[in-house]
Amino acid sequence: MRFGIDIGHNSPPDTGANGIKFEDNLTLDVGNRVMGKLKDLGHQVIDCKPAKSNSVGNSLQQRCSRANASKVDIFVSIHFNAFNGFANGTEIFAISDTSKKIAKPVLDEILQMGFFNRGIKNGSHLYVLRNTNMSGILIECCFIDSAKDMKLFDSEAMANAIVKGLTGKLPTAPVISVPDESLNPDVSLLRLQKALNRLRITDSRVIL
Ligand SMILES: [Zn+2]
Repeated sequence: MRFGIDIGHNSPPDTGANGIKFEDNLTLDVGNRVMGKLKDLGHQVIDCKPAKSNSVGNSLQQRCSRANASKVDIFVSIHFNAFNGFANGTEIFAISDTSKKIAKPVLDEILQMGFFNRGIKNGSHLYVLRNTNMSGILIECCFIDSAKDMKLFDSEAMANAIVKGLTGKLPTAPVISVPDESLNPDVSLLRLQKALNRLRITDSRVIL
């Protein structure tokens, strides 16, 4: 499967909303993780975010052109909402029935993190959904100006939810860089054997 991942904003003057956190930072963090995980699962990924743009319209246009030129199967735009500090939750925009079917499991996975369900909404007013040729969804992950949402939010969990919702799977968890040996019997055993071997070399009376 070939995915077009559209990391919202991050292309001045196309910049995102500001709340408790900055939308650009969160879309970039979640988007990069989503792209990495999809690649780990063996999918092709097209990064649709333009390096630079000369207007918001131009930024959006470039995103659609990339997705269309690369003939991606599914276009996924990642955004965060902002409103009045009280509104909260997750919503996904889709236009066609196929897109709505793609949106449903993604929404279900994200809701498991504890966000309020704002539902799947009609995204026919959204430029990137109107101007991409394939099925597409625009995820409003949660509200960056909601204290409740920002407390629930975690970029790794959000990326996992999106990838699981899109593909039904997750890549195998990366190996922990500093393993706790007490949790790993193999390593503990290895250390014990090494210790015993050292003992045998230095003291021939030890019987094993
Ligand atoms: Zn946005």
